[in-house]
Amino acid sequence: MKSDSRIPFNWPYMTGKELYYIAESHFNGRLAGDGPFTARCHAWLEARSGASRALLTHSCTAALELAALLLDIAPGDEVIMPSYTFVSTANAFVLRGAVPVFVDIRPDTLNLDESRIEAAITARTRAIVPVHYAGVACEMDTITAVARHHELAIVEDAAQGVMASYKGRALGTLGNVGAYSFHETKNVIAGEGGALLVNDPDLVLRAEILREKGTDRSRFFRGEVDRYTWQDVGSSFLPGELIAAFLWAQLEEAEAITLRRREAWARYHEWLAPLEARGALRRPVVPAGCEHNAHMYYVLLREGCDREAVIAHCNRLGINAVFHYVPLHDAPAGRRFGRAADALPVTSSAAMRVLRLPLWVGIDEAQQARVVEALGGAIGA
Ligand SMILES: *Cc1c(COP(=O)(O)O)cnc(C)c1O
Repeated sequence: MKSDSRIPFNWPYMTGKELYYIAESHFNGRLAGDGPFTARCHAWLEARSGASRALLTHSCTAALELAALLLDIAPGDEVIMPSYTFVSTANAFVLRGAVPVFVDIRPDTLNLDESRIEAAITARTRAIVPVHYAGVACEMDTITAVARHHELAIVEDAAQGVMASYKGRALGTLGNVGAYSFHETKNVIAGEGGALLVNDPDLVLRAEILREKGTDRSRFFRGEVDRYTWQDVGSSFLPGELIAAFLWAQLEEAEAITLRRREAWARYHEWLAPLEARGALRRPVVPAGCEHNAHMYYVLLREGCDREAVIAHCNRLGINAVFHYVPLHDAPAGRRFGRAADALPVTSSAAMRVLRLPLWVGIDEAQQARVVEALGGAIGA
């Protein structure tokens, strides 16, 4: 990319082996799901994360829907989650007739504020859904203790958390189940793709059944039953082998991808320190014990700063910086299907002030310097 050309917000990284593995699937005539590439991806994800079982899905959205089915979430059940998140976090449970109950976020990490969960629990509460924003872990020790005390399930929305960890444990393995995304905009990609990590061994068999149209086809393929039959509710949540082949090329390089993203992240972090010192913005906070994956570099602009003007200024200089979530409790469907547990002042403030900077594998120092300079110019610092 030329140094004076536009700097996109995201640029999908290809390892170079994706088409090679897709050709292998094609050549071998293996196209349906749960073939050899899916098996490799499952084994890699299980070995890497320590989950009892990893199951590829069409998307993180599908993995969250599978999680809601697996936990028997029913009409009227309440599920505690942040409002500052992607729609799928809520929709997966709304599809089951449940009510998302939105809790405020922490001002430092923009993750679910663990100190506010308890007050949101009612007799109908069934689950807590921590979302690990930007690949930085929620305060899982506290959340796990609250869940245990009130006998609630934990579904981690670890869409952004592949290759990140909390106190040495992979994100996605800290709840009963966890969901990963391999969407094109995430770190490790398959276009559209995801995985459900099943950490509770008692849920593994049923998760396999629900994912395979409610049949015990997975056991049949393992030779554990002599035919497969309809066992339970379910749907088709599994991706075809071409997606798994693409993903396998990415997983093989997941370590290198993470390292390169972290280098770019660290550069922004260093170069933006003077602006933070002058009070012009706030940089992301990564608490001790959280190993992040550099999924995102965002800044929090000052209260009252005109974010639209900052975005427009960057845009004129060829830099694509973007805002993030419209809080779910404020969105039409959020008002219809969910409710805020309390006032959500941190959510409302962060949603107005977050600005995400271009970050992808291959962004170079000159491009990052342009971003930092443009941002400094835009906020007059
Ligand atoms: C990307 C994302 C999702 C959805 O992932 P898909 O794979 O696109 O379905 C869900 N939750 C969060 C927090 C995300 O960032």
